[in-house]
Amino acid sequence: MAMYQVACPACGAPVEFRSAASRMAVCGYCHSSLLRDADSVRDVGRMAALVEDHSPLQVMSSGLFDGTPFTVVGRIQLRYDHGVWNEWYLLFDDGSDGWLGDFAGQFVLTRPAGEASAPPLFERVEAGARWSHGGRSWFAADIREAQCVAGEGELPFAVDARWTARVIDYRSENEFLTLDYSGAAPVVYRGRAVTLAQLQAQHLRDADDVSARAGRLEGRVEQLDCPACGAAITLVPGMTQHLTCPSCTSQVTASASQAEVLERHEADRLRVGASIQAGEVMRIDDRVWRVLGWLRCAVPDDASEPDWYEYLLFCPQHGFSWLIETTTGWQRARTLDRWPSTFSDSAALLDGQRYTRRYLYRSEIRQVCGAFTWRARAGDSTDVGEYVHGASVLNVERSAHEMSWSLAEPVSADTVAGWLGRKLVSIASQDAPAAIGDLFTGAGAGQLRPVARIFTLILVVLNLRYVLPFNLDALFTTAVFVVLLWLPVLKWDGAGE
Ligand SMILES: [Zn+2]
Ligand SMILES: [Zn+2]
Repeated sequence: MAMYQVACPACGAPVEFRSAASRMAVCGYCHSSLLRDADSVRDVGRMAALVEDHSPLQVMSSGLFDGTPFTVVGRIQLRYDHGVWNEWYLLFDDGSDGWLGDFAGQFVLTRPAGEASAPPLFERVEAGARWSHGGRSWFAADIREAQCVAGEGELPFAVDARWTARVIDYRSENEFLTLDYSGAAPVVYRGRAVTLAQLQAQHLRDADDVSARAGRLEGRVEQLDCPACGAAITLVPGMTQHLTCPSCTSQVTASASQAEVLERHEADRLRVGASIQAGEVMRIDDRVWRVLGWLRCAVPDDASEPDWYEYLLFCPQHGFSWLIETTTGWQRARTLDRWPSTFSDSAALLDGQRYTRRYLYRSEIRQVCGAFTWRARAGDSTDVGEYVHGASVLNVERSAHEMSWSLAEPVSADTVAGWLGRKLVSIASQDAPAAIGDLFTGAGAGQLRPVARIFTLILVVLNLRYVLPFNLDALFTTAVFVVLLWLPVLKWDGAGE
């Protein structure tokens, strides 16, 4: 192995270049950035500090990909709209290199695959756009521009805090491709989504080390006191920094050292609707899942469509998943790493199974509560396509810069109650035909119509013998009673429009 070792020009500590392809290294002692020219290095200034992100990886972590061992030799940390992610630079034992993208616990391993032959213009690409490359059709899944936060270890090119990355991630079934526009010509990286277990990753930051840095970390789920009102908010350090306080609805962002209020709210306006609250624990298949937060969603173009709730769940061993509650029942959903092989306006083909499109609608967030991996806000909207096969629902969500697929399966309310270990009053029963007591408070007054018809009939039949001899007083009295009887029914119908 062509290892090259020098003394740091700034502090004298030994700095290693393990990979012949590395152009830059950050001194592990004084954080000076060292550029390599031929067989000398020069100090080009101090690297900015990394953001503590609780990643289990570190420089010197190792693993196995497609039978070839690799070592993590460096990383670039980048910031974009949804937070911070890491690109870990890998050196394989055969001398080749690669990148392990680390997005809040979701990993993608890619290796350089040359320059793109006919790349699309970065500015022109929209989420879902198709691009043919290497005999495959690729679909744009994520288009983003990101700022370099900092780097460490050795890297194949020079970066500093002014460096900007422009990348498009493409998907094709279970394969992954990144088009990197950061350099002079777009470069292709190809690979697939992986887990640390599949990589047989070793030399991870040990749990004690991670928790020492994270403070009150307990199984990677932490409680934080809302800086606005003091209520407890449940979050996953490094993964869900975007918080909406369940108690006062203030928007809070959590970094390693502090929680900062982005938008302060005093009013307690959230105590409605959701059947499960942020912070609750669910036991599913012997695993503990924590409810981190919920979104109340609606279809803005169709007021008759009832609102629904989407609960974000987290389990340290499995990452994130969703529980969806509508007035017609519950679904459990997970985001797919493997995309449909084809999809159109009428159907999608996933794992050889054809799903038929049922709905296409715009979904809008109405309320946010708890912790999320991105800054979810009321008013945010995405286009959703719903494809069905039997009881399974394949959903595609698309915004201008992002597209993702998820698969949802129905679960019974009893099952959900079992997971929670308590009685569940779901929104379906909240919207069910109202009790008599509710008739006069407005809810469910639509049920009054048949009742009103029966009483009108009785009223008319009983009064017939007085009305028939053309007794105007009796006719008037009967008419007044009929109007009084129908008044609440018609009033409610009007209000319900
Ligand atoms: Zn140094
Ligand atoms: Zn609060």
